[in-house]
Amino acid sequence: MYDKVPTNLNFVEREVQTEQFWKEHDIFGKSIKAREGAPVFTFYDGPPTANGKPHIGHIITRAVKDLIPRYKTMKGYKVLRKAGWDTHGLPVELEVEKSLGLDGKPQIEDYGVEPFIAKCKESVWTYEKEWRAMSDRVGFWADMDHPYVTYHNEYIESEWWALKQIWDKGLLYKGHKVVPYCPRCGTALSSHEVAQGYKDVKETSVIAKFKVEGKDNEYFLAWTTTPWTLPSNVALTVNADETYARVKYQDYVAIMAEALLDTILGEGNYEVLETMKGKELEYMRYEPLFSFLENDPKAFIVTCDPYVTLTDGTGVVHSAGAFGEDDARVCNAYNVPFRQYVDDSGNMTKETGPFAGLFVKDADPKVIEYMEQDGSLFAAIPFEHNYPFCWRCDTPLIYYARSTWFIKMTALRDNLVRNNRTINWYPDNIKEGRFGNFLENVIDWGLSRERYWGTPLPI
Ligand SMILES: [Zn+2]
Repeated sequence: MYDKVPTNLNFVEREVQTEQFWKEHDIFGKSIKAREGAPVFTFYDGPPTANGKPHIGHIITRAVKDLIPRYKTMKGYKVLRKAGWDTHGLPVELEVEKSLGLDGKPQIEDYGVEPFIAKCKESVWTYEKEWRAMSDRVGFWADMDHPYVTYHNEYIESEWWALKQIWDKGLLYKGHKVVPYCPRCGTALSSHEVAQGYKDVKETSVIAKFKVEGKDNEYFLAWTTTPWTLPSNVALTVNADETYARVKYQDYVAIMAEALLDTILGEGNYEVLETMKGKELEYMRYEPLFSFLENDPKAFIVTCDPYVTLTDGTGVVHSAGAFGEDDARVCNAYNVPFRQYVDDSGNMTKETGPFAGLFVKDADPKVIEYMEQDGSLFAAIPFEHNYPFCWRCDTPLIYYARSTWFIKMTALRDNLVRNNRTINWYPDNIKEGRFGNFLENVIDWGLSRERYWGTPLPI
């Protein structure tokens, strides 16, 4: 012991000495054995992945996760600490894909799913040594010699057990849902993943002219930020309670929200022929936007929904049920069939005529060019917005209808919120703030992934 800290003390050296002392004398093991019969404090460690190197963020979490068990041990509790490894998932697949020089799902399937998975299994231990060294060095105590591993069958069986409980409660269901989807990875992304990849991009929105059925020269003007979804259009949506107008503009008649006439057509450039509530437009029919598209008696109608606002565009929204959450909801309500004219690699399908084979974002300028020539374009408007990209591979995400397995978290919301109130949060603003808000707005959890290296679903 020192009366005061000597100026020549080498802290790093002392840390290493302490680390060695702990190891040689199995101090961690003793700290548990010495508490035989004492009350148990249970600690669950969310496992890291060992296929990536540890970084400063891991050191912070390891330090915090060590602090509480250590404190509880000092207070007399027996605190078992089993280390764990998160081994499944897309990051592992992407790493292996890269190392094998593969690009995308078709190439993985050509290579063979079984050998691919074998490579994944190997690669999850790439940095285990570095992780152990880091954990020792920061004084993180856990039983690293008997870890739980998420690809082990015992672990998978536990997950299956949990899923069965969820199934028995009627909380597991298969839905057809529009999800943020990476066309390169070929999988849906969680909202948490989506939130990590937003970028400001310059794109072109369009106002398209949808010809009213049975009228020679009359068009709905509808706005969209995603021209590539126009070939999959199946409905137009208006707000039942807003006022719409039929106006004479240039040499044709246009229908759109009255409040936006000046903005879109220009003050004094039009003559109002008639106004009506959106409700009166409901079930009006119009023609498919492009001549190469097949007509369908169940589609191409005007629908009403309160999600349509007059803050942007024309007050008439182009609906493609396969590519938008609101669109899907409205189309379902009106029994309008989906048209999903984009394949799961994000390429336009053969039904889209001149655009077939193009990646959706590459189709945008072609669609606009085509519309310009065939007279269905009212305006192309450049705009800048915040658009989500895949945080793993940087491909623009698309909203895309997939069949997915969900856990009905929304049915548990009240319980989650109630339980959260009993938790002692540090800092306490997290309780009603970040975490409380998350629970208040909880959505159903889409847990299936259309990939290879993960827990097989027992369904
Ligand atoms: Zn991706």
